[in-house]
Order: sequence, then structure tokens, then C-alpha cells
Amino acid sequence: MGRIVQKFGGSSVADAESIKRVARRIARTRADGHEIIIVISAMGDTTDELMDLALKVSPRPQSRELDMLLTTGERQSAALLAMALADLGVDAVSYTGSQAGILTTPTHGNARIIDITPGRVVRSLDEGSVVIVAGFQGVAQSTKDVTTLGRGASDTTAVALAAALGADHCEIYTDVDGVYTADPRIVPSARRIAKIGYGEMMELAAAGAKVLHLRCVEYARREKVRVHVRSSFSDKPGTWVVPQEELTKEATMEEAIITGVAQDRGDAKITIIGVPDQVGEAAAIFQAISEAGINIDMIVQNVSRLSDVSTDISFTLPMDDGQRALEALEAIRSQIGFKEILYDDQIGKISIVGVGMRSHPGVTATFFKALAEQDVNLQMISTSEIRISVVVGSDDVDRAGRAAHAAVGLDADDPALVYAGPGR
Ligand code: ADP
Ligand code: ASP
Ligand code: MG
Repeated sequence: MGRIVQKFGGSSVADAESIKRVARRIARTRADGHEIIIVISAMGDTTDELMDLALKVSPRPQSRELDMLLTTGERQSAALLAMALADLGVDAVSYTGSQAGILTTPTHGNARIIDITPGRVVRSLDEGSVVIVAGFQGVAQSTKDVTTLGRGASDTTAVALAAALGADHCEIYTDVDGVYTADPRIVPSARRIAKIGYGEMMELAAAGAKVLHLRCVEYARREKVRVHVRSSFSDKPGTWVVPQEELTKEATMEEAIITGVAQDRGDAKITIIGVPDQVGEAAAIFQAISEAGINIDMIVQNVSRLSDVSTDISFTLPMDDGQRALEALEAIRSQIGFKEILYDDQIGKISIVGVGMRSHPGVTATFFKALAEQDVNLQMISTSEIRISVVVGSDDVDRAGRAAHAAVGLDADDPALVYAGPGR
């Protein structure tokens, strides 16, 4: 008998019938004698709908109250799932994140888990119940207010609980058969990856492959939690996310150079024109952005034009933070003395990821040639040891992703299966 954490995403519990379907699946695992902790997301598009509702009531909802509102989505599905399990004769109890002992930092909308005190969860498991925990939420240790952990963060709740409870592994149930070499909705020729290392999975998640929340993978790597990503709509094996060493040991001569391609449409680009080319200016700009609590991704600074000894700096940031970044920059415009700020949210990022590229020259050339053949213009480029990312116009993102996937030799013969609708 083992202890397993299973997380079901919003697309797996989109309506009453799906909740009953998931309950039947959990009942089967329970009948095998396992101790089960379920982490559940809000039904379908509930979180987006609650967000829309808040914006109709107030253009700038207070972050504390927004968290109070958004956490109700997961609370609803947790309670409904407990009811469905009871009807199947399975003892089940639902808990909010706070009741489950998920303690976080006080940053509303993007809190981090700092500790888990799962006393009630353990007691319920000891009593033989299936425990259902509302994902995506916790309670701030300092303020005692309810917090959310960021969009898509029920994955992180699941892995954090798996670590705290010493579970054998963590299963993430979603609407595709695992992690693919690209988003199968956009690249139908994507292949399922049977096993992937934490490092590459982190790069893919950071580059926009939303199948796993980035912080969940960071957590899994730190706490050595093995994660099985699979479909709640089929019984097929999915993708195991495991320590990188395990893969290196198994590596064969034909090891793929590129693991996958990721696309991200969630970023915007800000260009600051005419920044005086002197020491400290970039520091001041990014200090202002960081004080506004905004994470940036790529940065490009051009060489100064001799005529006016000034430079232009471009960077990308989450689209949702665009307005706040513009306000933060306006506030330091006179101190720095730049000329103009340009904002562009009609962009997307394509990244190719793979540890094999460390030792294989020419990957960049293959990638860029494929984009050139599609007439795609590259606006920004950045690289890490195992990733190459480019920013392109938003209309080019899907075409460029498919072309890159084919060019680096990842295309499969059969199209990938996608079980649920696209959501929002
Ligand atoms: P859930 O509601 O289960 O949390 P998400 O919508 O957050 O599901 O994540 C699953 C989706 O992630 C898939 O439907 C797919 O469109 C998308 N996705 C993006 N990149 C990948 C990838 N590399 N492999 C699999 N799915 C991916
Ligand atoms: N319901 C939350 C969201 O839509 C969390 C999650 O699904 O993981 O972002
Ligand atoms: Mg998700």
C-alpha cells in the first residue's frame, strides 16, 4: 500500500458529470488499498470567470479581496468531489488550503509556500478517509489572510503536499497524455515524452509550456518528488518527471538533442528609447521595475549611436504587469532622462530546449533557418546553456513553433490526442 497525491486540473472537472467520472477513478485507486490525497482545481474556466466578475465590480480589485474570491473556485470543486465520493461509498473529506496547513508568504496573487503543517490531513488519512485539498491557495503565516499561489499553481500545491506527506509520487491529471515535445493543440505532430529530467522540464515550463506550473517543477527538484503527468481521460502511461541523472545513465547514442519546443503568448515588450549611455542607468530602470514587484524575462540593449550617446533598452515582462511597469517607468522618466517608452503586446516567444544542444553546434542555425523560411522576423534573441528563445510577432507564433518542431526533427507520424476543449 502506498501514499499517492493526485491532482486533477480544471479541464478534468469541468462539469458535474466530469466530477463524478473523476470520483469513480479515485474510488478505483482507493479500492487498491492506497492512501490518497487529492488536490483539485476550480471547475473549467471558473477562475477566469471569477476574475471577470471582479473586474466588472471594480476596475482595480484589492488583491486581498481578489484572493478571497478566487479561492472559492477550488473550494467549490473540493466539496463537490467529496460529495460524489461519498455517494460511491468512499469516505472523503475536503479541506481548504488553510485547513490543510499550507502556510505562505503574504503576497496576494503570487504567494509562495513556506511551510506545510498537515496535521488535519494526516489525521483524516489515519481515519481511512480520502483527503481532498483545494489547490492554488494557502494562508499567510504573518497576516493570517487567505492567499493564492499564482495561475496554474494547483500543480505546486500537489507537489508540495507530496513532499510534506512523504508520498511515493505525485500524479498530475490533465487533458493530454503527458508532456509532449510541443503543445499538442498547436503542434499536432508533437510526441509524448516518456521521461524528462527536472532541469529540462523547468526550462520548458519557464518558456511557457503550461502543462506544469514552473514552481511545481522547482519544488519537485528540490524535494526529489517524482511526478507522473497523465490524462484523466485515459489509462495510458504519461510522462515521468525525474532527476536528470537518471536519464543521463540511461542515455543512448541516439539521445535527442532537442527535448521540446515551447510557445508563450503571455508576455509584452517594453522599449525605452534614448536612455543616456552612462553607468547606472540600466540599474535604475530595473530597480524601478523590481520595486513594482515585476519579473522581467529577456533584455536587449543596443550599442549607443555616436551622435547622441544614448541607447535603447528593450525587455519582456508578463502582459498582466504591463500597465504597472509603464507607471513605474513614467515615475523615473525625469530622473533618467530617456526620450520615449514603447509598449507592444502583440508578441510571442518560441523556445527550443534540450541538454543535448550543449555539445551539438548548429542548433541555432537550424532553428533560425526554419523561421526565416517561414518569413518570420526575430525581434529579440536570448540563450541559456540548454535553451534558445526568440521573440516574434504574435501572428507568427504558431507557424514558427510548428516549423521549429519539424526542423529539429521532433515531428511524429501520428497526431497527438487532446481530450478536452481549449478552455480560455
Ligand atoms: P489543467 O487544467 O489540467 O491544469 P492546463 O490547461 O493547465 O491543464 O495544462 C494542460 C495543457 O497544457 C494542454 O491541454 C496543452 O494544450 C498545454 N501544453 C502546453 N505545452 C504542452 C506540452 N509541452 N505538453 C503537453 N501539453 C502542453
Ligand atoms: N484555478 C487556478 C487557475 O486557473 C489554479 C489551477 O488551475 O491550477 O489558475
Ligand atoms: Mg494547469
